[in-house]
Amino acid sequence: MGHSFGIKCNECDYIKSFRMGIGMMYSPYALSDFDSEFALLPYLIRSKKTQQLVKNLINDKNGKFADGYEHSIYRCSKCGEFYGRFFFHIDHDDGSYEPLYKCTKCNKTLDLFELPEHGQADLSLYPCPRCGKNSLAEDYSSMLLWD
Ligand SMILES: [Zn+2]
Ligand SMILES: [Zn+2]
Repeated sequence: MGHSFGIKCNECDYIKSFRMGIGMMYSPYALSDFDSEFALLPYLIRSKKTQQLVKNLINDKNGKFADGYEHSIYRCSKCGEFYGRFFFHIDHDDGSYEPLYKCTKCNKTLDLFELPEHGQADLSLYPCPRCGKNSLAEDYSSMLLWD
């Protein structure tokens, strides 16, 4: 079951919540289904180019989704903005592939923002993308479960 993670700033009105994890229907089989009405990928990855690339890897290069794919948080190291994006890893005949997502503001490649498995993330290490102060905190008011 999926969950969510919220980030808010204590100094300004910056607030964002992210879908995390995976839904019940997210099997590797469903992820590799590109053409039926149940195809998942178009909902997970917006870029048509990336969708096509994944399709080619699965169909032509014997690509397989490795465990660990999930909705994740990415961060731009330039402007500090956070994004919800789908992380996945594909092993294929010529190597492996992980998607590269770009910041929509500065076009810089985003870094995967890993939350600690146990305990709290120390968000105060990261400046707020809006006001620049180190006053980000986890926003518990936006907790929700999604399928
Ligand atoms: Zn940026
Ligand atoms: Zn702020």
